[in-house]
Amino acid sequence: MSDSTRRIFFKQVAATGSVLLAGSAMAQAGGLVDEKSAQAVALGYKADTTKVDKAKYPKHTNDQKCTNCQLFAGKPTDAAGGCPLFAGKQVAGPGWCSAWVKKAG
Ligand code: SF4
Repeated sequence: MSDSTRRIFFKQVAATGSVLLAGSAMAQAGGLVDEKSAQAVALGYKADTTKVDKAKYPKHTNDQKCTNCQLFAGKPTDAAGGCPLFAGKQVAGPGWCSAWVKKAG
């Protein structure tokens, strides 16, 4: 293998590696939680906190959102992020479920 062939080879390996990494990161992130999934229904999850059933969850207020929940794995400004209650999926930043706990701090 000449020097230039070796350089090209390693460039290709590096490029393939990043594509694979990006792919696995996307697979981990998963899609958005479906409000109609069994887990979402059980937890009263809504992708829009203002759509929460007020009769069923009287303690809910519209300022409670996934982005200010203790369990939200994203940043407060993220449109969506992980939540341990919905493994492999993403919850909407403005979403809510009955397990909401105010983020400390
Ligand atoms: S536990 Fe928190 S972050 Fe997870 S879905 Fe419920 S409100 Fe959103």
